[in-house]
Amino acid sequence: MVDTVAYERISARLESQHVTLVAVSKTKPASDIEALYAMGQRDFGENYVQELSGKQPQLPADIRWHFIGHLQRNKVRFIAPFVHLIHGVDSLRLLETVDKEAARAGRRIDCLLQVHIASEETKFGMDAGEIRELLMATDTGRKLPNVRICGLMGMASFSHDHLLVRREFQGLKSLFDDLRSGLMSSCDYFSILSMGMSADHETAIEEGSNMVRIGSLLFGVR
Ligand SMILES: *Cc1c(COP(=O)(O)O)cnc(C)c1O
Repeated sequence: MVDTVAYERISARLESQHVTLVAVSKTKPASDIEALYAMGQRDFGENYVQELSGKQPQLPADIRWHFIGHLQRNKVRFIAPFVHLIHGVDSLRLLETVDKEAARAGRRIDCLLQVHIASEETKFGMDAGEIRELLMATDTGRKLPNVRICGLMGMASFSHDHLLVRREFQGLKSLFDDLRSGLMSSCDYFSILSMGMSADHETAIEEGSNMVRIGSLLFGVR
C-alpha cells in the first residue's frame, strides 16, 4: 500500500532541503508507481534488471529510472536505452561496459561510483583508493565519452548505532568534497551525493546528502 500522506510530508520536506527523492519501488507493482506518479513523483529506483525492464514499458515515458542495485555487466544492455542514473558502479570494468552499451544505445549514461562505507563485509563498493585509481585510469571519466561520473553513492551499516552510521556518512561526504575540489574540479556535473534510505536519511541529509533512496516509508515494508 502506498502511503500518500507520508509521501506528501517527505517530498515537501526534501524539496525544501534541495534533496532529490528517489522513490524505491523494487518488488512493488506498477500501480503503486502510478499512484506516486499522479502526485508528481518522477524519480523511481529499482534494484533488479529484469523487474525494471518489465515495468519501464508499462509506465509513463518521463519517469527517471534510477538503477540502485548491484549491476552485472552482462545485464547493462537491457537498461542502457532508458536508464537515467546508475548508482552502483563499483569497478572500472563495469564502467567500461556501461560506456560501450551507452554508445550502442546512442546516448550518454550518468553514473555514480559506489563507495564501501559500511563496516559489514557484504555491501558492495570501492574504497577511496580504488575510486581515485579508477578516476586516474579514466582521466576522470574523459576516456569513456559515453558515461558521465556524476558523483558518489554509499550505504551505511544496518545498525542501531547512530554514531557509527553518522561517521560512515561523514566519511563519504569528505571523500566527495575532496574529489570535487581535486580530481573532479573541472566537472560541474560531479555534484550528486546519493546517501540515505528510509531508516537513516535524516542523518544522511544532516551530513550532506543531496539524494536519498526511500522505499519502505513510501510503499510499505517489502
Ligand atoms: C532497497 C534499497 C533502498 C531503499 O530501502 P528502504 O529501507 O526501503 O528505504 C535504498 N537503496 C538501496 C541501494 C536499496 O537496495
